[in-house]
Amino acid sequence: MDFAISEKMQTILELINEFVDKELIPLEQQFLSRPWAELVPVLEEKREMVKQMELWAPLHPKEWGGMGLDLVEYGLVCEALARTFTGVYVFGCQAPDAGNIEILMKYGTPEQQERFLEPLVAGEIRSCFSMTEVDQPGSNPVMLDTTAVLEGDEYVINGHKWYTSSADGAEFAIVMAVTDPEAPTYLQASMIIVPTNTPGFNLVRNIPVMGHAGDGWHSHAEILYQNCRVPKEYLLGPQGQGFVIAQERLGPGRIHHCMRWVGICNRCMELICERALTRPISPNKKLADKQIIQTWVAECAAEIRAARLMILNCAWTIENFGAKEARQDISLIKFYAAGVMQRVVDKALQVHGGLGMTDDTPIAAFYRGERAARIYDGVDEVHKISVAKRILKEAGAAKGLL
Ligand SMILES: Cc1cc2nc3c(=O)[nH]c(=O)nc-3n(C[C@H](O)[C@H](O)[C@H](O)COP(=O)(O)OP(=O)(O)OC[C@H]3O[C@@H](n4cnc5c(N)ncnc54)[C@H](O)[C@@H]3O)c2cc1C
Repeated sequence: MDFAISEKMQTILELINEFVDKELIPLEQQFLSRPWAELVPVLEEKREMVKQMELWAPLHPKEWGGMGLDLVEYGLVCEALARTFTGVYVFGCQAPDAGNIEILMKYGTPEQQERFLEPLVAGEIRSCFSMTEVDQPGSNPVMLDTTAVLEGDEYVINGHKWYTSSADGAEFAIVMAVTDPEAPTYLQASMIIVPTNTPGFNLVRNIPVMGHAGDGWHSHAEILYQNCRVPKEYLLGPQGQGFVIAQERLGPGRIHHCMRWVGICNRCMELICERALTRPISPNKKLADKQIIQTWVAECAAEIRAARLMILNCAWTIENFGAKEARQDISLIKFYAAGVMQRVVDKALQVHGGLGMTDDTPIAAFYRGERAARIYDGVDEVHKISVAKRILKEAGAAKGLL
């Protein structure tokens, strides 16, 4: 793999870093202390600036008003944007919309694209992805209770979902529901678009996560689908292909998440260094003079570098050989990068002492918000089991031990 960054990308990354520093980091205290709705007008202004700079929607194709970056380039952009909470939102590449946009582009009918995709890519509306259920294991997603039964020209949806991120204020949900209960397991579910103003779409609450319920884009909802009827034309992709489409959504999506986590690590390293270099710890010494802090700095730097190179290599493999070829790497980066981030954020918090526990720095919010990285998009254990099984199988086959 060629790790060189093109001149064009270097310019883009410089522009983004400058924008994040000047325009977005100063908004962090507002983000942490005020309702989402109060922040939206100022974020809209920032989005306009980004559009003027032609940096809007870096992932999405140019014909849809995006920058059309490839996966490696987009990964680098995610890294730069994730240094602060609102980066991906202001640049129009926030989850869960980015993933939904990709599947609507690939599977949406022209009518679905006109009604749902066009305003979504333009940042005029938001969406959510509703798969995980309260009573079934998300780590084994083929176990779903939610059903969508075709009655005449409508699907009637019933089910109890939660962790539908960003549902509060979203225009529509992409819901995973069982449409073909008699089919083979992986062909039982379908994706269906459900406008959130449909009767029977009942947002029960924004779930408090680590003590914070959040609101708007920055929230995770519990939703009851109660005889929720949508036209059969809102089926997204072929019936029974829900899991196949979900898999497509998740592969490259893990690059976005993992590079975002590297960005969070980078920010934590900036904060660690700043604090260690300025915090007196005895009359003539700063925290940075202590060898234990120096060791942490070195260890964090090594782990971040390792994670970053693994992720970029994986993105390059997906870009050049497809997601199937990168399956093992996708699992490796998912649990490894999440673990690195957790350790780096924890070290940053420790270096800041009592200050680290407050919301006066972004570290505590990273700490509570990003613990979930080891759970969503595949829990650590499932990724590790899948990697280990493959390695053992290959080793066994090579040595004639199977
Ligand atoms: C912040 C956040 C945002 C999310 N956003 C969304 C979203 O937008 N849309 C959506 O649909 N879902 C979302 N999710 C849900 C997420 O995908 C699930 O939480 C995840 O798939 C795990 O499912 P579960 O919570 O049901 O845990 P379970 O499946 O009950 O697993 C619990 C634990 O069991 C262990 N475990 C599981 N399987 C195995 C195994 N095979 N071997 C050994 N141990 C195992 C793991 O330690 C795991 O953490 C989000 C979750 C979080 C925390």
